Amino acid sequence: MNQHILIVEDEVKIASLLQDYLRLDSFDSSHLERGDIVEDWLNHHQPDLILLDIMLPGLSGLEVCKRIRQHSQIPIILLTARVEEIDRLLGLELGADDYICKPFSPREVVARVKTVLRRSANNNSNAAKNDLRLDTDAYRAWLQGHDLELTAVEFLLLATLVQHRGRIFNREQLMNAIYSDNRIVADRTIDSHIKKIRRKIAQILPEQELIHSLYGAGYKYEW
Ligand code: CA
Repeated sequence: MNQHILIVEDEVKIASLLQDYLRLDSFDSSHLERGDIVEDWLNHHQPDLILLDIMLPGLSGLEVCKRIRQHSQIPIILLTARVEEIDRLLGLELGADDYICKPFSPREVVARVKTVLRRSANNNSNAAKNDLRLDTDAYRAWLQGHDLELTAVEFLLLATLVQHRGRIFNREQLMNAIYSDNRIVADRTIDSHIKKIRRKIAQILPEQELIHSLYGAGYKYEW
């Protein structure tokens, strides 16, 4: 599937020129002419990158960029009409991935688009290295895409810790989290379950400690 670029640009000629060049490189693209409709559009579409002009009707590109960054890490390249503005923009820490100055050659823009997309793909694959997913309906946990094959009790223990990342649970709290019938179980039971979970984690991530024990206090999850 082609990657999809959103162009937000009120100068229609520039936008359609960019669309032509993007098409030549097998990108799909969409075009919006106003800043104030971008957020709504993004609620219904998932482009791979945004080319965002700064001087826009409705809402400035700077404001659009800031708002997008509150909830999304989608790559953004800002288009500015003034080279001397770039320093100021950098100082604003808008979270844009790159800046391109007008007038630009469409070829250059496409090259920058590719660079930014490549960089962001690398970042994402790094992020995926810290990947623990829980399916609380099926009681299954995947670490880096591998099923940890936990028992129900082990799953509940891990889920309790993960869902309160960083919080320390003592053994009694953990027991309450996994047994609803107030049954009496030895402290050692929790320790031995934790030990088994750790062993399963170690088969996938031998170097990494995910469940930390704090002597006399209990356990916490931190990655
Ligand atoms: Ca403009």
